[in-house]
Amino acid sequence: MLFDVVIVGFGTSGFFLAFELIKAGFKVAVIEKENAIGGALVNSLIFPTAGFHTLSGKLVITDSVKEFLDFCIKNGLSKGHIKDPLNFSYSITPINPIAYNVFFIHYFFDNFKNNFVLFNNSRIENIYEKNGIIRYVIIKYNNTRVKIKGKFFVDASGILELSNYIDIGYRLDIDSLQAATLIFKVANVNFYKIIDYIKQNKQDFYDKTDISLIVNNSFLSVSGYFELASKYLFNKELFLSRDRFLFFGDISKNYVYVNTSRIFIKDIINFILNNNNDLKKKGFFKKCSTFILPSNEKNITINDILRNYDLIERIGYYLAFKQVNYIYRVMKKFINGFGNSYIDMVAIKLGIRQYKILKGLYQLTMEDVISAKDFDDKIAVGTWPIDIHIKDKIVEKKVNENGYFIPFRTLITSNYRNLIFNGKHISSDDYAFSSLRIQATCMNLGSVVGKILVNLLKNKTFILDIDFSLIKKIFKNTFLTIY
Ligand SMILES: Cc1cc2nc3c(=O)[nH]c(=O)nc-3n(C[C@H](O)[C@H](O)[C@H](O)COP(=O)(O)OP(=O)(O)OC[C@H]3O[C@@H](n4cnc5c(N)ncnc54)[C@H](O)[C@@H]3O)c2cc1C
Repeated sequence: MLFDVVIVGFGTSGFFLAFELIKAGFKVAVIEKENAIGGALVNSLIFPTAGFHTLSGKLVITDSVKEFLDFCIKNGLSKGHIKDPLNFSYSITPINPIAYNVFFIHYFFDNFKNNFVLFNNSRIENIYEKNGIIRYVIIKYNNTRVKIKGKFFVDASGILELSNYIDIGYRLDIDSLQAATLIFKVANVNFYKIIDYIKQNKQDFYDKTDISLIVNNSFLSVSGYFELASKYLFNKELFLSRDRFLFFGDISKNYVYVNTSRIFIKDIINFILNNNNDLKKKGFFKKCSTFILPSNEKNITINDILRNYDLIERIGYYLAFKQVNYIYRVMKKFINGFGNSYIDMVAIKLGIRQYKILKGLYQLTMEDVISAKDFDDKIAVGTWPIDIHIKDKIVEKKVNENGYFIPFRTLITSNYRNLIFNGKHISSDDYAFSSLRIQATCMNLGSVVGKILVNLLKNKTFILDIDFSLIKKIFKNTFLTIY
């Protein structure tokens, strides 16, 4: 099977990349390891989507992302942009996680089924490259092996999946990885009681919280209950260390998404090392399909675990699930408004914020995002503040108020001429990463990289031979509304 572009990962960034390409008439294959499409937003219940405005209030959105958002608003799947009641950023954009599925069925399936193939629940088994050009990949799909040829390949897995097969430089420092979170949804919550409590106990909440925005927008954003958190959210046995309860109201009233559990990759790894034999007996290792783990005789090492993201995801989920159970009981007992509530849904995947990050031709840094360094090859605009979830606290810092630029060189390496990276794992330091990982930026990145690939395919040019004047033109046409 020959495709114009083969995309690995159908999450936030892969989705919009595919959308651009198929709209332009190119043939696209997507390899997605999960059954469901939509990545973190869908499988980890990430809510609300954020990052569409700069801190000064300029809207940053591509035409395709806007098309998606307009569709969501029209179909009752989003409230559109609303002022951020926590005043952490300028706006937030609640989008129902089901929106990707609805949009996918409507557009991809109905309109483009002839030039789009989704291999969901499938994985790469091997990659064949020659002279810096990737020729094809072999995947396992429905228990058969399928060979997929492509002119271009995109790694949009968020975890640099392709680095497991070919020579791609990356950084992975387990001590500085951000916390992972298992988000759950609670039903039958009394919003009025919560709002009343916040009004009367302002000092116990994030100091920039604007209650009038919550009331006017009928959108609940809560970051606080610091006192309660200090009593209950530090629990060594559960690997929990959290200074606050964080939750957001759904688009429909009475439901909240709770973003309070917290588990570190390092704790997951230590747990695996310390409970190696027990976990083997319980069959946890057998279910991990990516790599063969060492036999029973050999002791598992940190490197074995790091190569096996599936295992980290699986054990992390198990540990975070215990936290969810505990956190919810505390909320139900002590937070006014949760008395009659019940857990409606727990995300099916642990939300892992950070894993492998590309070492590309350029590494975006904290200084770049604060000073809004200009680049000849700028392709997108980031907006979200530096927002690092580390032990016990959140570290925040403003980025440039008019947004900052992301250069094309953060998406490529010097060794492959038809491979490009997209989404949160592009080349950045920990600070820049904590900003660009936000959904709106990943959506816009997907869309703009799609536009770039459309041009490369039309001009029959490889990635490393791209003309910067073409990039300049695409950037200008894409973000015309603000620059
Ligand atoms: C806990 C948490 C809270 C967050 N909170 C917010 C928030 O409030 N607002 C906001 O806007 N953003 C938030 N984010 C950030 C945001 O959701 C993600 O960073 C963003 O969605 C990343 O997009 P992506 O396309 O790079 O990756 P993803 O959306 O993760 O997509 C990657 C896709 O690749 C697939 N994949 C992975 N490995 C393979 C493989 N081996 N083979 C095939 N497919 C594979 C995955 O299944 C997935 O579908 C949060 C993230 C987390 C984890």
